[in-house]
Amino acid sequence: MRNQILLTLCLGLMPFAVAQQPTPLITQAPAGKWAIVMHGGAGVIERSSMTPERDAAYRAGLDHAIHAAASVLDANGSAVDAVEAGLKVLEDDPLFNAGKGAVFTADGKNDLDAAIMDGKTMRAGSVAGVTRTKNPISLAKAVMEKSQFVMLSGAGADQFAASVGLQQVDPSYFFTEERWQGLVRYLKEQGLPIPPRPAGAPPPPTKPIAQLETSDAHKWGTTGIVVRDRAGNIAAGTTTGGLTGKRFGRIGDSPIIGAGTYASNDSCGVSATGTGEYFIRLTMARSICALVQYKTMSLQDAVNEMIDHQLTAMKGDGGVIAMTPDGQIAWGFNTPGMFRARLVEGGKVQMGIYKDEP
Ligand code: ASP
Repeated sequence: MRNQILLTLCLGLMPFAVAQQPTPLITQAPAGKWAIVMHGGAGVIERSSMTPERDAAYRAGLDHAIHAAASVLDANGSAVDAVEAGLKVLEDDPLFNAGKGAVFTADGKNDLDAAIMDGKTMRAGSVAGVTRTKNPISLAKAVMEKSQFVMLSGAGADQFAASVGLQQVDPSYFFTEERWQGLVRYLKEQGLPIPPRPAGAPPPPTKPIAQLETSDAHKWGTTGIVVRDRAGNIAAGTTTGGLTGKRFGRIGDSPIIGAGTYASNDSCGVSATGTGEYFIRLTMARSICALVQYKTMSLQDAVNEMIDHQLTAMKGDGGVIAMTPDGQIAWGFNTPGMFRARLVEGGKVQMGIYKDEP
C-alpha cells in the first residue's frame, strides 16, 4: 500500500519534473545545415526590473529578427545577406539600441555605428557616426561590397549611402521618447547640460512613460548576429547607437573590425556588446578567433577565456555571441543579462535574457 502511494505520488510529479528540465542549448550545428546566433545587447537586465510585457516584447523582437535571417538561409542565401536581413529588423525595432530607438549622444543626437564581415572573403565594411541612413547595417555592407574602403565615418558615410541608393531619413526618425528620457536622466546625474529636444521630435508626453533603462545600468540594446550558411561560410555583423551620453564623436567597438565584429572561415565569427572601450583594448572578437585558430581551443572555451577572465579582470562588462565554420555555437557575458537567441536549421529558437537561463 505504502509503495503504491509512493508510486502514485512519483507518477503525479513526473510531468512537473519533466517540464522543469530546461532543454540543453544546441552547441553544434550539423554539417550542411545553416545556423544563426544573435544578441540584442548585454547589461543590467534583471527579472525584477522587467515587466512581463516588456520581456515578451524583447523576445518577440529577437524572434522576428532570427526568422528574417532564417528565411534568407532557407532560400539558400548567403551568410552575409542573412546577417543584414536579421539586423535590419532589429534596427527598425525601437526597443533595440540600433537604428530607430538608438541612444542619444550628450548633445542630443543619434550617432549610429555598424559593421559587417564576410568570413569567406575576409572582406569587411563599417561605418561610424552615421545620422541619416535608415539602416546602417546595409550601409556597412555597401561599404564592403561597393567601395574600396573598409571604414567610413560621419557625413561622408551618409553621402556614400545616398550615392548607392540607400534610404536617407531625417535624423528625427531615430528619436524615441524612452531613449530621450534616458539621456536626460544620465546628463542630470553627470551634472552635464541638457540639450534642447531635437528638431522634428514629437511633443513631450503629458504622462510619465515606462523607463527603458535603470539609471546606473549599462546602456544595453546593441544588436549583433553571426551566421553560418549552408555552404559553410561564416559572417558577422553588429549595429548600435553606442553608449547613452557619448561625447566628442566617441566611437565604440561595434564598427571596429576585430574588436566588436569579426568573421573568418579560418577561425570563427563574433559580435560583441558591452562597454566598447574594453572590447577595443582587448581586440575581443579577433582574440576569441585567434584562440580558436592558433590554440585550437573550443569556441566556448575561447569565449569563456576572453569574457570570464580577460574582460572581467579589466573590470569591463558585456558579452559576445560566436560561431565557427564547423558549426560550434557559443555565447558568454559577465553582466546580469544579455538578450540572446540561437537557431539551427530544422530546430527551434533557443532564447534567453537573464543569467539563470541556459
Ligand atoms: N558596445 C557598444 C559600444 O560601446 C555598446 C553596447 O554594446 O551596448 O558602443
